[in-house]
Amino acid sequence: MSTIGFIGLGNMGGPMAINLVKAGHRVLGFDLSDKAMAAHEAEGGEKAAGVADLAAAADVIVTMLPAGKHVRQIYEGEGGILENAKPGILMIDSSTIDVDSARAVSAAAEAKGMKMVDAPVSGGVAGAAGGTLTFMVGGSVEAFEAAKTYLDIMGKTIVHAGDAGTGQAAKICNNMILGISMIAVSEAFVLAEKLGLDKQKLFDISSTASGQCWSLTSYCPVPGPLPSSPANRDYQPGFAAAMMLKDLKLAQEAANSAGAATPLGAEAAALYSLFCNSGGETQDFSGIVKFLRGTS
Ligand code: NAD
Repeated sequence: MSTIGFIGLGNMGGPMAINLVKAGHRVLGFDLSDKAMAAHEAEGGEKAAGVADLAAAADVIVTMLPAGKHVRQIYEGEGGILENAKPGILMIDSSTIDVDSARAVSAAAEAKGMKMVDAPVSGGVAGAAGGTLTFMVGGSVEAFEAAKTYLDIMGKTIVHAGDAGTGQAAKICNNMILGISMIAVSEAFVLAEKLGLDKQKLFDISSTASGQCWSLTSYCPVPGPLPSSPANRDYQPGFAAAMMLKDLKLAQEAANSAGAATPLGAEAAALYSLFCNSGGETQDFSGIVKFLRGTS
């Protein structure tokens, strides 16, 4: 049994921490929200008084926070993890954040002799609750092997992507493909409607032709052809458009920082921004089809 410090007990972090409790670990939780702390305690977790106390007591620390600025503050800020943690400790940041922040925090941790991985996830709240998340992990082989023991409890697929920051890189590259391909598939359905081509016919043809992709065959953005897709339940998420926009913005930040040309990624970010601003923020990201049709 390890003493695990878990910071950020929100929609994702809350159930992830509880899976560690259920596996027999002592989990000291901390969150700014009293409600999140109470839920953690009600399920068998323990409350930490603050980041410094948690860091001093833990053998392993997991963070699941909204953005890079929160992660940098919690790790590098005054009274933060790096200042208070035991030497040689393992740290796992599963937040989705910008690559530059992930690399900076990891370098600061390594400079203090601590092991760290960036390990963002896919699989959403259902995957967090069910312990079936996919973790994309960046860090040394040694840190990856140490983290895998704990990631195996919270997830089903654990992939070592490479050095520090490559977990975040994998996440945003994948989601940039997803955002662009969802727009492409949605545009095709809107065009088919205007041309009098039945949506089921387009689905049947393209799902076995060269237009085949996950956005079409596993997450079809129009109701009917694929009963399990969010389109059939009025675009309830699923994966909210606001989350897609966050990841597309991170991809653009990374592209600018690294000097990569991603014109379709930029266009996808602009379209999701318009969709979110026009009320689509809390809808599933496949609802972009309504925006393209002019009916959102
Ligand atoms: P959330 O807003 O539900 O949870 C974040 C938690 O962090 C909140 O409870 C908040 O109070 C806490 N927090 C913020 N600042 C803090 C601080 N300084 N100290 C302690 N606690 C603090 O968000 P979420 O949906 O759980 O997402 C967490 C991360 O996971 C994000 O980076 C998100 O992009 C990523 N993610 C989310 C999903 C999803 O479906 N929700 C899927 C994949 C990845």
